[in-house]
Amino acid sequence: MRTFSAYLLALFLFTGVMALAERFETDTIKTSSGDLDITFIGHGTLMFSFGGKVIHIDPVKRAADYNKLTKADLILVTHDHPDHLDPQTIRKLSDDGTRLVLTRKAAEKVKGGIIMNNGETIFVEGLEIEAVPAYNIVHMRSKGKPFHPRGVGNGYVITFGDKKVYVAGDTENTPEMKKLKDIDIAFLPMNLPYTMTPEMVADAAKAFKPGILYPYHYGKTDTSKILKLLEGTGIEVRIRKM
Ligand code: ZN
Ligand code: ZN
Repeated sequence: MRTFSAYLLALFLFTGVMALAERFETDTIKTSSGDLDITFIGHGTLMFSFGGKVIHIDPVKRAADYNKLTKADLILVTHDHPDHLDPQTIRKLSDDGTRLVLTRKAAEKVKGGIIMNNGETIFVEGLEIEAVPAYNIVHMRSKGKPFHPRGVGNGYVITFGDKKVYVAGDTENTPEMKKLKDIDIAFLPMNLPYTMTPEMVADAAKAFKPGILYPYHYGKTDTSKILKLLEGTGIEVRIRKM
């Protein structure tokens, strides 16, 4: 009887793990302080595991069943649009020890976070985090009204050991982005018309030269274009299911 229960439990766990494995792709990056696991949850949502800590970026209900995912040690929110900020999911992922990093506007919708303005750097959960401006220059909701006005949204540069990871948020190829230095891994959005065309992504990538570029939050944009545009540049472009 006991063997049978053990068998059932094993089967249950295996099915659970398989369901998770089937659903999300994960890449492992070696750093000077151990492995960084990146899980591609979907849309603009990512999960990092590093040094025993779990970091969620823009967790939203539509991206995953968060009952099945580990509680967060740290949650970063890039801006207050509902496909990036979901207070209910943040609550679901949080326990007493969870730290939350927000933009000023996002903090109007969810309490208890650390507010970061563009250009600020903080240390939280042992990680250095820098807020980079995220905004539109060309793509407008209506005349003179960008989808993402300057000064509202953040991208984040997170330092994991000797690796710098840049998650850009909803933005275009801004001068601030193009001036970034020593970025090992970059996540750049390609969801149209709200963020960048593949040409804009290529322009930014050629300027700050990340080691690895993951287009993310790419919606229905053809990802093969960015592969072609960056051919021969030495930048490794990785397309993952999101
Ligand atoms: Zn947005
Ligand atoms: Zn978005």
